[in-house]
Amino acid sequence: MTRADALARDVADPLAFARAQFRLPEGTIYLDGNSLGALPCASAPRLAHAITHEWGERLIGSWNDAGEGHGGWVDLPARVGASIARLIGAAADEVIVADSVSVNVFKLAAAALALRPGRRTIVTEAGDFPTDAYVLSGLARLAGATLRVEADPLAALDNDTALLWLTQTHYRTGAVRDLAATTAAAHAAGALTGWDLSHSAGALAVDLNRANADLATGCGYKFLNGGPGAPAFVFVARRHQGAAEQPLSGWFGHAAPFAFEQEFRPAPGIERMLAGTPGILGLRALEAGVATFEGVDMAAAEAKSRALGDFLLALVEQRCPEMTGACPRSARGAQVSLAHAHAYELTQALIARGVVGDFRPPDVLRLGLPALYTRFVDVWDAVDILADVLATEAWRDPRFAVRQAVT
Ligand SMILES: *Cc1c(COP(=O)(O)O)cnc(C)c1O
Repeated sequence: MTRADALARDVADPLAFARAQFRLPEGTIYLDGNSLGALPCASAPRLAHAITHEWGERLIGSWNDAGEGHGGWVDLPARVGASIARLIGAAADEVIVADSVSVNVFKLAAAALALRPGRRTIVTEAGDFPTDAYVLSGLARLAGATLRVEADPLAALDNDTALLWLTQTHYRTGAVRDLAATTAAAHAAGALTGWDLSHSAGALAVDLNRANADLATGCGYKFLNGGPGAPAFVFVARRHQGAAEQPLSGWFGHAAPFAFEQEFRPAPGIERMLAGTPGILGLRALEAGVATFEGVDMAAAEAKSRALGDFLLALVEQRCPEMTGACPRSARGAQVSLAHAHAYELTQALIARGVVGDFRPPDVLRLGLPALYTRFVDVWDAVDILADVLATEAWRDPRFAVRQAVT
């Protein structure tokens, strides 16, 4: 495997066109789009227009009509939700953009308890992305429900389980759960499924409705390229929408927000998952991020990320025997995880050489491989630099051991 092989694969890549939609800094190999998606070229002009024209000139009128065919701000959560729906196998009216993943976990899990009266247990996986279990424990305390955090969550399902809450793609290992099989197992136990798609949406060909999934949420700022702190999305299967009650019953989730009624009446559809006024600038940036998927077949994106990962693992095996694969060979998300006792220092040393990945404790160097802008030659160059950092032990420089707030 040579650098020329990598370049040849880029020439043959049917998704190569998508990279031109992003502004990537010269001299940086960005392998952290699974944490913060790259900046689309369209985002800055789109936001500038939203600020100067929609806000600056049309002012409050933009809530109904932002002009130039851009619709009204008030419909933006549903419109951007509909464009995300295509990427995750949902119908347009089953997805809406709202809040953060953490807040949506709370709303969805509470809705699941309401949808399964008589059942009081939520089951989730130990060692998964922590915010989900943190929020579920807070909800369980408030609702008088039981949270079970299990190494084998499927084995823990019983006739008291209202909800099986899982992340589809594991943030550290990249292991991917089978949506359909897992959902079927939960349904067989009489429980609903709730999926955190943070590392799946925009990375894999997710098909929520084919899996008969019930509830889901996921990040806007990772593979969807929505920008730092972009709002998240929420999915509620149509069959549950009429009965899915969530406790953050704010006015944007009301059937008629501008009727200013005394009593809360939930919107009949997915809008009931909203709470308060959406952040429009964040939504405009997310809209531009999701638009980078136009014309992209998610099966092709998934296949490319897997091929990039296979290429990376093969190169590492050949050139960096000190690193051990900490991710599955198959059923893997758009990332590769490599273990090393000094993974933190290695990550920092790589960043200093222009290869941006991240560190996840205790010992994982995580490299994201978004299909839209990662090239095979980037993978080749990154492994070349990794091999050099290992061979020269450049990572032993004490400045690489200084812990940053965000790793
Ligand atoms: C990134 C991530 C989150 C982030 O949640 P926020 O509330 O948006 O900060 C949640 N869950 C998983 C699995 C993630 O990977």
